[in-house]
Amino acid sequence: MVGYYEILPHARPIEIRVEEQAWQFDDQYCVQRGCDCQSAGLTFIPVMGEGSQRNADPRLRLSFRYSYNDGQADHVTAGADAPSVSEMLGELRKAQPDLKGFLARRHSVY
Ligand SMILES: [Zn+2]
Repeated sequence: MVGYYEILPHARPIEIRVEEQAWQFDDQYCVQRGCDCQSAGLTFIPVMGEGSQRNADPRLRLSFRYSYNDGQADHVTAGADAPSVSEMLGELRKAQPDLKGFLARRHSVY
């Protein structure tokens, strides 16, 4: 799996907001030649503070594998205070209503 921002380091970062908390969205995809898997590794990193005070509380961090074709999530790694996968996916869909197309387009640049 290779991160989208490793491939396109100047791409605009995406922030998702759940109630008062902002999250930075990080996505990774498979780079195996000829592989047609349709899943993304999604990581949500909490954005705390400003400038040099910015840090990511590991208790809030959430990552999982998301199959964008059928909407299934697995391989969940969640900090003790992290929101649930369905809660985070719900917010992500508010920001990107066509989530499947959005992730498929990002995967297609690989
Ligand atoms: Zn693959």
